[in-house]
Amino acid sequence: MKKWSLVLVFWLIYLPEAYCWGFFAHQQINYHAVFLLPPEMMVFYKKQLLFLSEHAVDPDKRRYMVAEEGPRHFIDIDRYGKFPYKSLPREWKDAVAVYSEDTLRQHGIVPWWIQTMLFRLTAAFKAKDAPRILKLSAEIGHYIADAHVPLHASSNHNGQLTGQHGIHGFWESRLPEMLAGKEWDYFIGKAEYIDNPLQFIWNRVLESAAAADTVLKVEYQLSRSFPSDQKYAFEERNGVLVRQYSTNYSLRYYEQLNQMPGRRMQQSIYAVASFWYTAWVNAGQPDLKTLINTQFTEADQKDFETLDQQWKDGKIKGKDCN
Ligand SMILES: [Zn+2]
Repeated sequence: MKKWSLVLVFWLIYLPEAYCWGFFAHQQINYHAVFLLPPEMMVFYKKQLLFLSEHAVDPDKRRYMVAEEGPRHFIDIDRYGKFPYKSLPREWKDAVAVYSEDTLRQHGIVPWWIQTMLFRLTAAFKAKDAPRILKLSAEIGHYIADAHVPLHASSNHNGQLTGQHGIHGFWESRLPEMLAGKEWDYFIGKAEYIDNPLQFIWNRVLESAAAADTVLKVEYQLSRSFPSDQKYAFEERNGVLVRQYSTNYSLRYYEQLNQMPGRRMQQSIYAVASFWYTAWVNAGQPDLKTLINTQFTEADQKDFETLDQQWKDGKIKGKDCN
């Protein structure tokens, strides 16, 4: 009995962080974005709430299958000098001309990848290809949400350079899981048309980059003033007992961040809905009522299953947790 409990404790302590941007938060963001849409879109999207939230995490799962996937989730923007990183051209082709494609991919490409996804989603609307609209909507939601996370815009993405290992999951999994249901509200207004999507995302990325310092500094200082034996605790996470940042420590951190994760989550929801809406408008506002009874093909279903299986079996390809 004793031996077993020791093994259990060992396993719990060394349980790897399960995800990067928490699966929970991604699913919530796509889910709540649907309610910001105009009625002409809502009629189609609302029937697919489950799909859109479940598949919000497909891009993270794909990181177990495809090496090129990793860089689409982040940008280590501090590799390009100092805020506001004027030397980094905002247009992809101009940035390639200055830094080369290899370098850009190495440091992450999230703002540009979102433009590619927007282009594809617009084309899917034009073609009235319902399965593609849904897949791309779920996935663009993921990348937009990632662009809102401060540590997705920093090379010190998991506090590895400052002895703060685990801070990535702390900010984007632990805090949302603790607080999203109780503390945060989602009455955010309506989706709006975005005139310049590239500029919009760059603004969000720059906000993330500016906030990354605060995210790291506040935790660094808190960990020095907080009783070290109370920083972590064995608490339940998704029905499993795990060693994680204690509730008290998490609440204090959240308070000292002035509720930043909640605000970023709201901004993500607004942005996701607005990108979906912008793609639909740019496609000429196709009538979505005719697409309500969408069925995925057998090939689609098989793809989803393969993705899921690879993720369950797999080892991440490329950089972890960014
Ligand atoms: Zn991601």
